[in-house]
Amino acid sequence: MIEVKNLSKRYGNHLAVKNVSFSIDEGEIVGFLGPNGAGKSTIMNILTGYISLTDGEVSVGGYNVLEEPELAKRRIGYLPEQPPLYQEMTVREYLNFIYDLKNVKFPRKPHINEICRLVHIDHVENRLIKNLSKGYRQRVGIAQALVGNPDVLILDEPTVGLDPKQIIEIRKLIVGLSKHHTIILSSHILSEIQAVCKRILIINNGEIVADDTAVNLSHNLSSNHTIHLRAQGPESEVKKLIASIKGVRSITSLGVIEPGSMDYEIEPAEETDVRKEIFTRMSDRKWTILELNSNELTLEQIFLRLTDGSFVAKKSEAQKDEALSDSDKAAAFEAAFGEEEK
Ligand code: ADP
Ligand code: MG
Repeated sequence: MIEVKNLSKRYGNHLAVKNVSFSIDEGEIVGFLGPNGAGKSTIMNILTGYISLTDGEVSVGGYNVLEEPELAKRRIGYLPEQPPLYQEMTVREYLNFIYDLKNVKFPRKPHINEICRLVHIDHVENRLIKNLSKGYRQRVGIAQALVGNPDVLILDEPTVGLDPKQIIEIRKLIVGLSKHHTIILSSHILSEIQAVCKRILIINNGEIVADDTAVNLSHNLSSNHTIHLRAQGPESEVKKLIASIKGVRSITSLGVIEPGSMDYEIEPAEETDVRKEIFTRMSDRKWTILELNSNELTLEQIFLRLTDGSFVAKKSEAQKDEALSDSDKAAAFEAAFGEEEK
């Protein structure tokens, strides 16, 4: 659906996007994750034909954005970082205006009605945009992107500046839209991307530094991860048994944390997952496993590592820094408050 080959973008002397390539299939929901200034908006602006590219090739729905810009643009609904809303128009006037601008062929009234229902703004359609809350204005921004029913939605920081309750509402809306659209969304906040996207492109300094699912990212980038075991059974025999498993490099006793058991740190050889074998052998001996975890890096650590170079190496140190995540906060907020335009 989207093909980007060796894309570069220069602003004056500054190379903001450096030889970036990726492709996105129909129906995917992909997150651009990267710190401010990474180049996310620049790439989105090029995909949508808002700005020109310096080098490379970009096509959307099979249409090259330089050679057939009108056809490429028709496939895309775009919510820019600063949605171009007209404050003095009502919601319906504005969507009618966008409908004319995009030269849409669907019957006007039912098409706009359907969009308003979909993004839950049908009850505010006669309000002036300036009188809406930020969450509702963002919905109107998404509604304008949906006019003309484009296959691809490109949403630049769709939840920035919203409160936790509004963030949850917009996330739900995006997940719902992903059933019928290919979606790219950007954020500089990991939890935002993690909550919605299956695939993550981490962008740093104009380059794609990772492109994978969240699960694979944390697995593949956690080399030398250790396994933590809490088990019952005679210490020296447990150690002997586990040390004999192929793929186990070492096992160290950590001490007694829960009475009647012992904690161990197991170092596996690279690229082997020995957890299944540990489980089978321990259960053969009827020694109980109370805990068995792979100490993989969290996505947060990986993000820091890929974008800063200042990642936290030890899990225990990282855990100290782990505050309540944004999504937890949002969930707590949702339980307490509700946004409703009345
Ligand atoms: P992001 O959306 O990831 O925050 P941007 O794509 O907005 O990043 O910016 C990438 C880099 O390009 C930044 O260093 C930014 O300062 C620079 N940049 C963006 N737009 C322009 C512009 N119109 N002129 C000059 N530099 C720009
Ligand atoms: Mg941006």
